[in-house]
Amino acid sequence: MEIRIVVLGDGPGGLILANTLNRHRDQANKPLQITLIGHSPLHTYQPGLLFLPFQTRGYRKLEELQKHNRKLISTGIEYVTDTITRIDPDSKQVETQSNGNYPYDFLVTALGSRIVPESIEGLAERLKVGQRVHTFYTPNGALQLARALEGFNGGRLVINIAEMPIKCPVAPIEFACLAEDFLRKKRLREKTEITLVTPLSGAFTKPVCNEMLTGVITGMKAIKVVSDFQLESVNDHRISCFDGNEVPYDLLVSIPPHEGSDLLFKAELGDATGFGYTDRQTLKSTRSEWIYLLGDNTNVPTSKAGSVAHFQAEVVYRNLIQEINGGEPLPLADGHANCFIETGHQKAILIDFNYDSQPVPGRFPPLQMGLGSHKINLGPMKLLNESTLNHWGKLSFKWIYWYVLLPGFQIPFVESRMSPVGKDYSILDKVA
Ligand SMILES: Cc1cc2nc3c(=O)[nH]c(=O)nc-3n(C[C@H](O)[C@H](O)[C@H](O)COP(=O)(O)OP(=O)(O)OC[C@H]3O[C@@H](n4cnc5c(N)ncnc54)[C@H](O)[C@@H]3O)c2cc1C
Repeated sequence: MEIRIVVLGDGPGGLILANTLNRHRDQANKPLQITLIGHSPLHTYQPGLLFLPFQTRGYRKLEELQKHNRKLISTGIEYVTDTITRIDPDSKQVETQSNGNYPYDFLVTALGSRIVPESIEGLAERLKVGQRVHTFYTPNGALQLARALEGFNGGRLVINIAEMPIKCPVAPIEFACLAEDFLRKKRLREKTEITLVTPLSGAFTKPVCNEMLTGVITGMKAIKVVSDFQLESVNDHRISCFDGNEVPYDLLVSIPPHEGSDLLFKAELGDATGFGYTDRQTLKSTRSEWIYLLGDNTNVPTSKAGSVAHFQAEVVYRNLIQEINGGEPLPLADGHANCFIETGHQKAILIDFNYDSQPVPGRFPPLQMGLGSHKINLGPMKLLNESTLNHWGKLSFKWIYWYVLLPGFQIPFVESRMSPVGKDYSILDKVA
């Protein structure tokens, strides 16, 4: 009898999982029927939306960041382009808008997260008008912001994170750095005050990285950081915080609040903000025996990032095979995240961390040679340090995304669990 695996969501998480399972279907001792359901036939490389407003070469048009999902999903997977309207964990089926119901033996949800600007007074309508308030978190928003930056003649540029969690928590910092570089080249830097306004207590969450990033942006780049700012409302001239603090703007780049999927909340698989109750080690739903979650729609305490979705897809694939073959799911997930942070002027920082281990300096990928305690780290990329190689790594990642990640291949030397090799943890003694 075939085992029916239904994957919800046609973003990177869903695609990597479905393609990986399909390639390794011989690992299961029963035949598999894999169905992927999603309503985005056009797949956007979302990290590219950071570069589009600055018209970086290779990132100028949406066509350079998008491909048809049908071409990215391997033969053998049934791809249903439809809107999922309900998950019923009791009858083990999923309802779609136009194609009826899909019963499953195992369900994997990779429904992502979405921005909800309507939850902030004054934000949604100003984003819609698109005159002085923009976001690069959607394809059309990034295009509109490119036009706004083109016409910008200096003034107060404010980048605001409304609340956490957001996708790719470093993207707003990267945007601030790229804006600084862009405005300098346009000879507008002297006429512009750039401010990053964040609900966090600094530029980033993890202490060592926060100190480093705050230093990078407030130092030579002279970007102001306003921290602990809980956004209440937006009007035509300023953003306001619940404590009465206000920041005026001429051009506002907003990162609106994010939510997971309503479907998870309604099926009692997730909280009121739509993030699914997930076992942080097995990635299995803590509410239903036959459901796994991966990517942005989980509630596990790591970044909402494509790299995380990729590492989690490998864990879910392994645990599905375990269960189909009669075993128990294994605690394989460690919250591994790996991100390039673009800092402008053709430089970037690379960070690698997991649930328990914050980003520290070192080399990447984790490659060592030598005997006993005399080891040399061969990883060419610097961790938690700016370098030009990291910048080129970030730009070339688009190719890796389409041709290595999405098809479900392994990136050489990069495992789904974080490796301590090449990392210098002595810095933690200094900050302790
Ligand atoms: C500007 C920006 C920059 C970023 N930069 C980076 C970066 O440098 N590095 C990094 O690792 N990550 C980055 N990310 C984050 C990364 O893109 C996301 O974390 C990643 O896309 C999550 O993948 P996912 O599959 O979990 O969710 P998603 O990509 O959101 O995919 C979810 C899919 O589910 C579909 N779906 C949802 N609901 C339904 C429904 N009811 N019916 C049918 N289909 C549905 C959606 O259409 C979508 O296709 C960035 C994101 C942004 C916005």
